[in-house]
Amino acid sequence: MHVHFDEKNPNFISDFLKVSERLNLTACLLTPFADRKVVSDAAKQHPAQIIPFGFVDLDAADVVNQVEELHAMGYRGLGELEFVKKPYNDPSYLPVYELANRYGWIVLFHTGIVLRRKFDEPEDVASGRMRPIYLEEIARRFPKITVLGAHCGNPEYEWAAEIARWNPNVFFDLSGSTLAKMQGRLADFQKIFWWSNTEWQSPEWKAKKPDSDPSAFVKIVFGSDNGLDGIESVVNQYHALFDACGLAAHTRKMIMGETLSNMLGLPDGH
Ligand SMILES: [Zn+2]
Repeated sequence: MHVHFDEKNPNFISDFLKVSERLNLTACLLTPFADRKVVSDAAKQHPAQIIPFGFVDLDAADVVNQVEELHAMGYRGLGELEFVKKPYNDPSYLPVYELANRYGWIVLFHTGIVLRRKFDEPEDVASGRMRPIYLEEIARRFPKITVLGAHCGNPEYEWAAEIARWNPNVFFDLSGSTLAKMQGRLADFQKIFWWSNTEWQSPEWKAKKPDSDPSAFVKIVFGSDNGLDGIESVVNQYHALFDACGLAAHTRKMIMGETLSNMLGLPDGH
């Protein structure tokens, strides 16, 4: 999860394919609407490596049409939704969520602190519109959307984790600065994702998945949010987290691709 298509690199697809082969990586490629054709063509040619995700502006006047077009082109989800003018649960965004719900899509939302692009000009951007708590309402109103929060709400990890605990359709990635910031205290994540081996999975959920993993960490998925050169270092950061929190091999495997791979119906091994 969480590889941004780089419009500035004319060789992005071939550069990505090389990294993908080296790391055995399948990417949900977050694609600006303007680049939708090149990425959908690449995904058709390399279906085991590229899963097309549409990066739309929720405040665009024609966003609903854009989403319908992306669906018709074979896109599998949306994201990263970010830089919104209103909080994520604003009623004006619901038509997009209704479509995503109908399509059974995965939707990746930026959560938490967001970078500042311009220091000397006013900008209409606020992290407070992208708090993880808004994802709870979206997940409950639209149960067929898989709600994926990027950056685990940085720094509102506790809210992010609790919302994931109570909502089967909510997951988070740990991309961004979090794993670097927490480098010396990675074991603290056991206090945030605290409910491993408790009765947190509903009887219905367990009936469907009798072999389900009891670790709270299954609510995390691998996400890089880094340039192609930086993906491997994020893999290493995730492994450091796994070691610090003593995660079982099965849980690690789910985080490193199995969870998303199952959701997307990818063949085994991807
Ligand atoms: Zn983000």
